[in-house]
Amino acid sequence: MGLVMVDLAKLIEGIPKTQKIYLDNMYLRNLSVRVLRVYTTRGKRIYVITDKTIFHPKGGGQPSDKGWIRGTGFEVEVKKVLERNGVVIHYGKLKNGITEIMDENVELQLDWNHRYRIMRIHTAGHILDQAVHEVYGRTVETIDALHGPPEPYTEYRAFPPSSSMLRLIEERANRIVAEDRRVKVVYARPGELDAYVLNAPNMKRLPRAELYRIVVIEGINAIPCTGTHVSNTREVGSITVCKAEETEQGFRLYYDVV
Ligand SMILES: [Zn+2]
Repeated sequence: MGLVMVDLAKLIEGIPKTQKIYLDNMYLRNLSVRVLRVYTTRGKRIYVITDKTIFHPKGGGQPSDKGWIRGTGFEVEVKKVLERNGVVIHYGKLKNGITEIMDENVELQLDWNHRYRIMRIHTAGHILDQAVHEVYGRTVETIDALHGPPEPYTEYRAFPPSSSMLRLIEERANRIVAEDRRVKVVYARPGELDAYVLNAPNMKRLPRAELYRIVVIEGINAIPCTGTHVSNTREVGSITVCKAEETEQGFRLYYDVV
């Protein structure tokens, strides 16, 4: 992997934080952006930093987006997206026989099938938090998650559920899907958090910030989160709870959406 060969601190030197367009427009699939830095390694591996992006980097329990960057006579296949100090770095493979990008402006395009599936899986994760909370009859702390392929899971600090509890969690989760609830984003300052956040299972591990982005599933829960979600629970489709696996701190709930 070319990734480890590059000094990322040097790569982002002097570059302002990337404007993350996906935070407020999760359904945007294309965007014209300005190129701030390009770095090509041997074998046509390329790093592209732009002023803004629709690509969600790997982090916060969400895998990175994939897609393409296009300009005059070239195409970059974006394979990974990472973030350092607020700067989003697109990493991929330069195609069409070009070894250098000269364009000032390029077009970003998401692999929408990949992203939309992540949006559904991620929203299902929030729904499962709520279902677990209801089945256990108390707030259960979420300690880890992978909201994406290949094997999505959420991890909780609690004793593992019995098989009948597992079925109840799945049932309750799918009922929330069918309840046709709106999923929206609100912003809150630290002092206002308590007023917004309902049953948030991740409050303890929340990093300090001036403004929190809170993902609200109307009427049931509100969780500080920087990921991408669908705008209505119905879009999630059907949630399957595959299995629960005991971990050192609790249990992992493996799930999927179809
Ligand atoms: Zn989320």
